[in-house]
Amino acid sequence: MMTRTIVLLCILMAAALAQPQGKTVADNQITVIKCGKLIDGKSDTPIENAVILVEGNKIKLVGHNVSIPKGATVIDLSSATVLPGLIDAHTHVLLQGDITTDDYDAQLLKESIPYRTLRATVACKIALMNGFTTLRDLETEGAMYADVDLKKAINNGVIDGPRMFVATRAINATGRYGLSNSAYAWELRMPKGVQEITGADEARRAVREQVSYGADWIKVYADQSYYRLPDGSFRSIQNFTTEEMNAIGEQTRMLRRKLSAHAVTRDGIIYAVNAGARSVEHGQAMDDECIQLVAQKGVFWCPTIYVNVWVAEGRAKEGNPIWPQLLENMPKVFGKALKAGVKITFGTDAGGFDWKENQAKEFSYMVKWGMTPMQAIKSATTVAADLLEMSGKIGEISPSAFADIVATQEDPLKDIRALERIGFVMKNGILYKNEMTAGR
Ligand SMILES: [Zn+2]
Repeated sequence: MMTRTIVLLCILMAAALAQPQGKTVADNQITVIKCGKLIDGKSDTPIENAVILVEGNKIKLVGHNVSIPKGATVIDLSSATVLPGLIDAHTHVLLQGDITTDDYDAQLLKESIPYRTLRATVACKIALMNGFTTLRDLETEGAMYADVDLKKAINNGVIDGPRMFVATRAINATGRYGLSNSAYAWELRMPKGVQEITGADEARRAVREQVSYGADWIKVYADQSYYRLPDGSFRSIQNFTTEEMNAIGEQTRMLRRKLSAHAVTRDGIIYAVNAGARSVEHGQAMDDECIQLVAQKGVFWCPTIYVNVWVAEGRAKEGNPIWPQLLENMPKVFGKALKAGVKITFGTDAGGFDWKENQAKEFSYMVKWGMTPMQAIKSATTVAADLLEMSGKIGEISPSAFADIVATQEDPLKDIRALERIGFVMKNGILYKNEMTAGR
């Protein structure tokens, strides 16, 4: 009996030792970062030769007259541009790019959820190494609540990854999402990329369930099946009844969560915004009325440009010429929204394109279509933090914010593509990447 107890204890101890320790930072650990240029996320101009003092996982001081405490680790980035950790407000870490329907279906049919989750751990690491210290991950595409596990594993230091805000399964109306019923024999019950609902009660149940499993955001697919009228305007099919959408909005609000709406044309945008959506995703075909509504209600627009660039040609070849047409329409919409004062937040739909593509490619399109480099940087820092109701905590380099800090050797205000070459990443006071001071 005794021997058995000892064996059991040994097994338990071995299991405990096998638990990863995780990367942590001591509360009293002090790191001083000397910056060449500091873009703090709030100011319109960079600050020259500032010093950041990090204590534990928070920024304690930022300025010119910061004395370096004894025993502090000093990181010299005086030839670099330092910025707040970037925020991508629209990703799918559980997806690996899907130009065609077959690409998408193969992931749901041929890869188990554990396998997809393993792949997602790589996506999380890539995002972090690219300088994205926070993601709003907008649904798992059939991988159920695996995003909640990924968030937990990151927070517990089991894997390296960004801060995660997760939406779990997303909601669409019955029959309105992949895997398409018409693509497979009708007697088969195919897996679905979303939670399907019919009626206001099922809508409420879906929100309640998702929140109970850990959803920070509720994501809905407000419209689909985009088409163009002879006058050149774009329309789509409204997926939910207004009653269903209002029920989702109300339940989301009651449970103190936030609503994100995939909505491309006025058929999706107007009723979703009126139901309380905090952000409109994609919106490639927003018309003037939508732009005014979104601006007036202070709703965030997450344009996800790069995914459109990535899928347009392939989808046209597959028989969907609407995709290049939507892409062609985007610069005009972007310019109008910018002029109207819409809160444009950085979001790429990474995962909708291959994770081998750096999601920071989004920036160059924002600048090409009318933003200043500083506006584009703010969209991925202070504006995105505002979307997440995390102002003052992330997206800025200021006292009491979390120490989420990145740097690049070149000046992104001169060439925004410098953000595709982030060489230094600190998240929550922990250093994950430093290719910039090695050997100096
Ligand atoms: Zn998406």
